[in-house]
Parts: sequence; C-alpha cells; structure tokens
Amino acid sequence: MENVDYIIVGDGYAALFFAHQVIKNNKSFVLYSEGKQSASRVSAGIINPVVLKKFTTFWKAQEQIDFLKETLSEIEKYTGQNYLIDAPIHRIFHDESEQQLWLKKSSNNDLINFLDQNFAHLEVVKNDFNSGKVNQSARLDVNGFFIGLFSFLENHKYFIKEKFIYSDLNTADQTYKHFKFKNILFCEGIGVKENPFFSDIPVNPNKGHHIKVNLSQPLPENITIKKKHFLFPIHENTYFYGGTYDREQSHYEVDSSAVDQLTKGLKEFYPYDFNIEEVNFGFRPTVRDRRPIIGKHNEHQYMYVFNGLGARGILNGCYFSKSLYDYIEKGIPLHEEISLERFISK
Ligand SMILES: Cc1cc2nc3c(=O)[nH]c(=O)nc-3n(C[C@H](O)[C@H](O)[C@H](O)COP(=O)(O)OP(=O)(O)OC[C@H]3O[C@@H](n4cnc5c(N)ncnc54)[C@H](O)[C@@H]3O)c2cc1C
Repeated sequence: MENVDYIIVGDGYAALFFAHQVIKNNKSFVLYSEGKQSASRVSAGIINPVVLKKFTTFWKAQEQIDFLKETLSEIEKYTGQNYLIDAPIHRIFHDESEQQLWLKKSSNNDLINFLDQNFAHLEVVKNDFNSGKVNQSARLDVNGFFIGLFSFLENHKYFIKEKFIYSDLNTADQTYKHFKFKNILFCEGIGVKENPFFSDIPVNPNKGHHIKVNLSQPLPENITIKKKHFLFPIHENTYFYGGTYDREQSHYEVDSSAVDQLTKGLKEFYPYDFNIEEVNFGFRPTVRDRRPIIGKHNEHQYMYVFNGLGARGILNGCYFSKSLYDYIEKGIPLHEEISLERFISK
C-alpha cells in the first residue's frame, strides 16, 4: 500500500488548479485521468472580468484575476513556462447605443478598471462602430498549459492515465487499488453524473463548439476579438472562433447547427474567405445560480467534490481551488454561495 494525502479524480481546470495547491503545500497525491478530451481542453482560454452582453462584472472578478496571475507565476516556477498571453479582448460594438452604454458603465466603480474609455478601430474586420477594450483581460495558452502540467505530473509519477472505477473504492478502509488516501476529491466535470457519491449535485451540461479556421487575410494584431463569439490567433494563419452554448444537446457528436452558427457569426464581421480546419466540442458543467459547487460528502467525511465551473473554468477553477484547500486542511468554512450545502434542504 502506498499512502497519499490526496487522490484527485479528473484532469480539467478544477483538478489541475487543485493539484497546484497540493504541490505548493508539499502534500502527496495521485491524479486520475481517463484520457478523454475535457471541456477544459477545448476551451478558448479567455480570462475576462466582464460580462460582454450587458457590460457588467461578476463576484470577486478583480480578486480572481489577481489570484490567477499569481498562481500562473507559481506554476511557471516548476513547469518552466508562462501560460498567460497578454492579449486583451476587443468587443466590437453593434451600434452607437452600445458605445454609449459602455462609456456610461466605464465610470462605475466596479467597472472602471476593466472598461477602457478609448475606443479602437480594428483593421481587417468590420467594425463600423469601433470596439471597446477590456482592460486586464487576457488568454491562457490552453494547449501549453495542459501539455506542461501533464508532463510535470507524469515526470513526478503523480499522473495515472486510467479511468477511476467507483466500485473499486473501499470506503471503509479509505483505499483505492494500492493507495491508502487521506482525502479524495472528485473533479469530473459533467462526468460526475456517473459518480455514485455525488451524482445528484445539480450540474447541467451546456454543450459548446469551437472551430479552428484558416483566414485568407490574417489579423494584424494578437488580440481577441469578440463579436458573438471570440476570434483569436493560435498559430500562423490558424484562428480559434467559438464557443457556442447549447443546453439541449447531450450526444457526443459534432452538431452541424453549431458549425452553421459559428460560420454565420464569423462571416458577419470577417469579410474575407476562410476554411474550417477543425471542429471541437465539450460540455461545460453549469449550475443554475452560476456558482461552483464545492463541498464534502455527508457520510464519507474524507470525500469532496469540486464542480460547476460553468463558462468561467479558468477563473473559478483557480480561485476556488484555494478555498477548497483551506476548507479541507485548515477548516476555513466555504463561502455559502459556492458551498454544496446550499442545495441541501434544512
Ligand atoms: C467551447 C468551450 C469554450 C470555453 N471557453 C472558456 C474560456 O474561454 N474561458 C473559461 O474560463 N472557460 C471556458 N469554458 C468553460 C470551461 O471549459 C469549463 O468551465 C471547464 O472546462 C470545467 O472544468 P472541469 O475541470 O470542472 O471539467 P472538465 O474540463 O470537463 O474535466 C473533467 C475531466 O474529468 C475526467 N473524468 C471524469 N470522470 C472520470 C473518471 N471516473 N476517471 C478519470 N477521469 C475522469 C473527464 O474525462 C474530464 O477530462 C469553455 C467551454 C467550452 C465547451
């Protein structure tokens, strides 16, 4: 038997940001990855403190951004890579009234540090009403982040490329195969539906597609353009455009309607030819109140869940991994807005 402080099940943002907390605090662990394409790996990597439909912000946005930057620089120390791409979002305005709304909101206390008051005119794309820059927005190098962290975990023998089999968990002894663990954390995204210990948490799949396109006329700058969806360069002439939202579809196949939606969306502001090179999809684990779900199993007190990261997996996953770690190791209560307890009737 090998003793470990943690078994982590899953390999998306929730699992990896929690693993970082564990590494930072010199705890022992293993992480199970079934090797499927996670929602995290198909995500755009956008780090954005603003809701770009209504020009509002959200709970703890500034704290979350600051904490993410700090965390990524800690990760850089052991993977040797910086995964933060300093490429701000430019939101194309549909009309003059949107410009006015942006300007009005940009002097609100909670938005003053995010909504830039100087509008920019973008080249190549259609933007008759210019665009507004979101200060402090950035991107994560998604592919680099997963490649870098997975190889670090593999090199240190923390990574087990196997599906975690729930029926092999011995709840009385706190053992799984040849591991005796102190705590077990489930970070399975929508895979939690198969987890007999947490299958009833109210996480709903929201299917998202993105396309990778070859643009005949490249964009002159490395920025992220937002019009309906996000457009940004990945390498050479290949660009990412996405993602869509669909609560109805749950099958594991590409939906042609989503591809049509993306093609139409891109044509609206990109007036040149483009080819679709690749289509990918994933399922965001969403919650009705748009807050993560974090908590402890009511019977097995060493068993935890970290889920419901929704459309903001990077910020939520990074920030709340520390709340969860402090809850487990230091007994610091979880904020009621993210706690699993909010769904337990009293
Ligand atoms: C198209 C699209 C674009 C997005 N863009 C962004 C964005 O720009 N910015 C942002 O912040 N968020 C974005 N998101 C949302 C983000 O991807 C999710 O919030 C996030 O991926 C959820 O992370 P997670 O770790 O909870 O789940 P997941 O990423 O789904 O990871 C769970 C993993 O656990 C594994 N697993 C499940 N069960 C088992 C088991 N029994 N054994 C072993 N492994 C198991 C699964 O295979 C999966 O790989 C996007 C999502 C989509 C679909």
